[in-house]
Amino acid sequence: MIPAMDLDFTEAEIHRYSRHILLPEVGGRGQAMLRGARVLVVGAGGLGSPVLLYLAAAGAGTIGLIDDDRVELSNLQRQIAHTTARIGEPKVLSAAKAARAINPEVRIETHQMRLSADNAQALIAAYDIVCDGTDNFDTRFLVADACVLTRRTLVSAAVLRFEGQLSVFKPHADPASPCYRCLFPEPPPPGVVPSCSEAGVLGAVTGVMGTLQATETVKEILGIGESLAGRLLIWDALASRFRTVRVPRNPRCALCGADPAITDLAHHASRDAPALACHPA
Ligand SMILES: [Zn+2]
Repeated sequence: MIPAMDLDFTEAEIHRYSRHILLPEVGGRGQAMLRGARVLVVGAGGLGSPVLLYLAAAGAGTIGLIDDDRVELSNLQRQIAHTTARIGEPKVLSAAKAARAINPEVRIETHQMRLSADNAQALIAAYDIVCDGTDNFDTRFLVADACVLTRRTLVSAAVLRFEGQLSVFKPHADPASPCYRCLFPEPPPPGVVPSCSEAGVLGAVTGVMGTLQATETVKEILGIGESLAGRLLIWDALASRFRTVRVPRNPRCALCGADPAITDLAHHASRDAPALACHPA
């Protein structure tokens, strides 16, 4: 139950969120749930930009943003939270400016660092839900492992060329839900799957997938609609075709199975997370 006090909105908030509050599935109670939510966005890039901007616009009360890169000219074709004038700035600070310009009511917590085996569990445990928009497999598996170990819902998106994928992983909350490793047990060998910097990506494809990721995050916060947990959404932009495939939980999964081999993040400690790829399959 939401305490009555949390349903108090200022007149400006009621105006700002009026199109949400009009929706029976959201309403004042849902808007209060969004205001109370703590979301961690991993990566302030092509996916993280629309995720951050839509969550800020939606009034997600506290948004953490982690990234250790600086804005480069080649980012601007798709990473819409950044601007030409902010080239050279840390991405988390640039993106936070964009989010605060849209909605100064939300709190943006910037973490200008690389997610590592040392900091991942403490950082992720400080949030309710995690949006992964990273561009390399090492960080992607680190986020996935840390989310299972800390029992946090993971909304994970990936893009490459003209394709995108999206799913929700919450085995702690739904016995039928797989974790990321149920779907992808191990990272592919280096060099097998090209990165966006090697193979390219259409900018708007990252925008669509990041926007879908923000939508699924809002659904998970509010508990509305049909969760994408247990399904993988695949979009082929060239064919203009969306499809959804079932992804079952693996009872022998090394991470979320009955007898897990992975019980901490020690196996990530020696990796230096090179930016190899941005696509899980
Ligand atoms: Zn699993």
